[in-house]
Amino acid sequence: MKVLKFGGTSVGSAKNINKVIQILKNSSQKSAIVVVVSAVGGITDKLLTAANQAVAKQSQYKETFKIIKDQHLSIISELISGDSQELIKEVVCAKLTRLEQLLDGLYLINELSPKTTDKLLSYGELLSSYIISESLKSKGLDAALKNSQELIVTDKVFTNASVNFKITNANINNYFSNNSVAITLVPGFISKSKDGEITTLGRGGSDYTAAIMAAALDAEELQIWTDVSGMFTTNPKLVKQAQPIQKLTYQEAVELSHFGAKVLYPPTVQPVLDKEIPIVIKNTMAPEDSGTSITKHISNGANLAVKGISNISDIALLTLQGNGMVGIPGFSKRLFETLSQEKINVILITQASSEHSICIGIAEKDAEAAKEAIDITFENEISLHKIDPILVEEDLAIIAIVGDNMKNHQGISGKMFSALGKNNVNIRAIAQGASERNISAVIQKKDVKKALNTLHERFFETKTKQLNLFITGVGNVGERLVEQIRQQKEYVSKNLKLNLRVIGLSNSRTMAFDVDGIPLESWKEVLANGEKASLNGFLDGIKTLNLRNSVFVDVTANQDVANLYPEYLGQNIGVIACNKIACSSDYENYRLLKHLSFNYNAPFLFETNVGAGLPVIDTLNHLITSGDKISSIQAVLSGSLNFVFNNFNDKTRFYDVVKQAQKEGYTEPDPRIDLSGVDVARKILILARESGTAMNLEDIQNTSFLSPSGLESDSVDDFYETLIADETHYQNLYASAKANNCQLKYVAEFNNGKANVALKEIPEGHPFYNLEGKDNIVMFYTERYPEQPLIIKGAGAGADVTASGLFADIIRIANN
Ligand code: ADP
Ligand code: ASP
Ligand code: MG
Repeated sequence: MKVLKFGGTSVGSAKNINKVIQILKNSSQKSAIVVVVSAVGGITDKLLTAANQAVAKQSQYKETFKIIKDQHLSIISELISGDSQELIKEVVCAKLTRLEQLLDGLYLINELSPKTTDKLLSYGELLSSYIISESLKSKGLDAALKNSQELIVTDKVFTNASVNFKITNANINNYFSNNSVAITLVPGFISKSKDGEITTLGRGGSDYTAAIMAAALDAEELQIWTDVSGMFTTNPKLVKQAQPIQKLTYQEAVELSHFGAKVLYPPTVQPVLDKEIPIVIKNTMAPEDSGTSITKHISNGANLAVKGISNISDIALLTLQGNGMVGIPGFSKRLFETLSQEKINVILITQASSEHSICIGIAEKDAEAAKEAIDITFENEISLHKIDPILVEEDLAIIAIVGDNMKNHQGISGKMFSALGKNNVNIRAIAQGASERNISAVIQKKDVKKALNTLHERFFETKTKQLNLFITGVGNVGERLVEQIRQQKEYVSKNLKLNLRVIGLSNSRTMAFDVDGIPLESWKEVLANGEKASLNGFLDGIKTLNLRNSVFVDVTANQDVANLYPEYLGQNIGVIACNKIACSSDYENYRLLKHLSFNYNAPFLFETNVGAGLPVIDTLNHLITSGDKISSIQAVLSGSLNFVFNNFNDKTRFYDVVKQAQKEGYTEPDPRIDLSGVDVARKILILARESGTAMNLEDIQNTSFLSPSGLESDSVDDFYETLIADETHYQNLYASAKANNCQLKYVAEFNNGKANVALKEIPEGHPFYNLEGKDNIVMFYTERYPEQPLIIKGAGAGADVTASGLFADIIRIANN
């Protein structure tokens, strides 16, 4: 004998019921089966909705009732043909009329007691079991319907009754010993008290009905059929990468289901556990999938430490604290007695060893009643200030990692909490069962999805890490970056086990988000069809998505964007800046950003601020972290100025060379920022700061080579005019260098805490002399490199190299 249970998700439509019938046909050929069915999918909730509407005097309950009625009638029309269809509809309509009368009654008296709730909810299972049994018969199967209310006897705790196993087991055995049909169908969830009042076994209770049947009948197997292919490593609706678990022990299944894996109703396992009956969880929509098998022991020894991660939402945390509690016994006894009198279930308990406070997690719906009752219990102590009035925090959830084998492994809780910490999931309380089968943490409700994904990645997908990118400023450089990500995605995923996803894109006009990753083949269309761009809107979008490993990439040169970095970092969102404004802003701001990055565990990288894609800052950081000290930096840091002076001579106009540099994308949008030396000053400032010197832009001596009118021009167009007018000024610079057999290079220097930038005549033989095109060069003189400097040289401007510098920052974050 086998017991098969089909959940509401399996019997939600005629199409699904046909799948069920097929499964039953196959199973009943092998042995006699007992089939437990839930209410048609979603009906239990709809019945509750209708009842609440009626009680609240909202006439919509009639509409809700109509939906319930239509849903059942249309299932009958689709499943059963011929004369019997009308007959069955009549029976069902009679039942529905009684249900409608009950709802009308609720509307009149506007009150819904637990007792009436059970009566009302029982209609769901009664209707579905009747309809399914008739369809089985109409398909020629040897089936009979038995009302489980005549078998399962409970106490009178309505909505959550306890089973009287002695009477129930006797009833079941008695019935089945005189019964020889191949398929016995029973409604799940519903039961009766000894004196015949309708009771139910609690939400999700059909699983329990099935387990009671299986245990009473010593079934060889209990099969739970649902809409997923087994119990998953975590809730598959919240974590896409969740996988079915092949094997679980009873205890693991209990822990997982206690903590919210609602695919199995918690008490289910108890009756079958004593009898050691195996449970299999199967998918009605994919019967060929092997599903999850749950047994007392797992034989093959290959049992992972962490088997699953689950969560319970809608938790409130009660904290009882005060100096008066220390060392005095009896406080917790009184606390728990109070809760038990109020029939409030305690889900989690922690007490600090200081005994100064006790924290308990309960269902949020019970919070108000709990506070009232506890404050009364401790009225006296509160008035004497021995303890504080109970503190209630809401909007919380519990997440738990579960596995029998965790006790044999060190460092699991360390991994759990460091993964959560890195993603800024704030932990309010922690509990670990002495069995070490479960480690639970109370977190904010809004963090649940992120926490589950983080832990899932940590424990089940150690091989791949996901990085969620939000890129703003997809102009020249930004576009190349997206293109590089598209090209490298597969390589990075295969070789670095890194899943790079672009979740948000923005330019100055529009912005777009896609939680599943914007398809990089068509990002331009996606962005063009996005919503109107706004800096705060982009930030809010990222915050709301609340994805782990989120990184904001700023490829603008915009002050307002840079002003928002503190907001990003403070939300544990990493920042990669191509924009130099933040790092060259006021020293206090630079410090703040570094500080936020450290405190919120949010990487802040800006390699492209100096030397585009050249690893200048990275090298500097490596030198310093390995204990070296920077004594001096000599550098040519402007790709644009280098391009200009490498191409400028007595046969070209200065104006034309500058124009060309701008056209090729080697200058800032405003070329004055490059030509005035400000851009170079910013770069040496950033290197000085990264070397450990507190300095501001004003502290850098900047000797300009521009003509006086060039310096004073107040628009880009004006500025270009002055270049034409002052050609002689620039030709003189060239002539002087030529006469001295020198090359003109714009040089930045940092020496003993001081920095300067200026155009210099570089003699032959100097490392700067042969610097070509738009190349940059940086020479670090350090304690370890006192005479022969460490030199970094290469292209220091251009969209492609800059984009690849940003890409390198992304990879640095991923490797961290
Ligand atoms: P049924 O109607 O078949 O009783 P339930 O809705 O009670 O189905 O339970 C199945 C659902 O449980 C799945 O659709 C899934 O969303 C949810 N679920 C939550 N956690 C898990 C988990 N760890 N593994 C599988 N399913 C889970
Ligand atoms: N129909 C009931 C519920 O929705 C019982 C069950 O589905 O297991 O809770
Ligand atoms: Mg269920």
